[in-house]
Amino acid sequence: MKRVQSPSSINTFLQCPRKYYYQYHLKMPTSPSIHLIRGSVAHLVLEHLFTLKPSGIAATYKHDLQIIVLELLKNYWNKALPQLESLGLTPQEFNYYFVETQQMLLNWLKQFINRIEQLMQTAGLSFSEAFTALRPITEIEYTSSTHGVHGFIDAIEEYQGTVRLMDYKTSSRPHITDAYRLQLAIYALLYEEKHGKRPQHVGIYFLKDTEQLLPVNDDLLLHAKVKIEEIHAATDGANRIEDYPMKPSPLCKWSGGQCDFYDYCFNNKPVPKHPPAKSSTQETLESV
Ligand code: SF4
Repeated sequence: MKRVQSPSSINTFLQCPRKYYYQYHLKMPTSPSIHLIRGSVAHLVLEHLFTLKPSGIAATYKHDLQIIVLELLKNYWNKALPQLESLGLTPQEFNYYFVETQQMLLNWLKQFINRIEQLMQTAGLSFSEAFTALRPITEIEYTSSTHGVHGFIDAIEEYQGTVRLMDYKTSSRPHITDAYRLQLAIYALLYEEKHGKRPQHVGIYFLKDTEQLLPVNDDLLLHAKVKIEEIHAATDGANRIEDYPMKPSPLCKWSGGQCDFYDYCFNNKPVPKHPPAKSSTQETLESV
């Protein structure tokens, strides 16, 4: 039977089939990380921001939006405290990541306000009208039974007949890597299949930097189809550990840490027959 894959599962398989086996076949939990938690927090802030009614923040919108974003950050950061505290960060590290996340969100907001003001000037719109026009549809799940793949698109921006599918990233290097390109290609494929029309662009808001876009063309969609077919061919009906070879790389172990499954691969730790139960930290993190 065809498993439903996701951009993350496919990219994990491409990085290392054995890691995919542990994570997606055996469903073994992975450790929370500051990058994962603060990424979830930033996503929630932006998702919440777009549910607000702009009519109450007309005249002083620059200042108001900043306050709103900072309040939302504080709120979601506090909600994530149990997960953040489980990481054992020093107070300095804790503060560093909070301030950095704050800066990222304010950087993104500055660019969003620029787009609003551009639209106000060129189309003669009020703040409220421009905000509403640029408000994306957020966090939509798309599933394709034809391709056996699903994904959550962070922001679908539809404006004057054009469509952009955008993802938010808190990564420090503003560069569309092969893994990001594949993720975006899959989103474009899912969107086109569901709506019968092709988005013009897919892209990433690098919150620390700027947005980067890719045009959606036949090559990009073919890339998604090929990679999805590849993973189905390799994993559908494949249940043994031997079906998933190890692919050692610098991502097995690095100066500050190691792959969650390092001890199973290199220190003869016995692989559990049944996946260990998720810790409460893991359960909560997944719902952040
Ligand atoms: S430790 Fe290396 S080889 Fe083992 S699962 Fe992780 S990435 Fe793959």
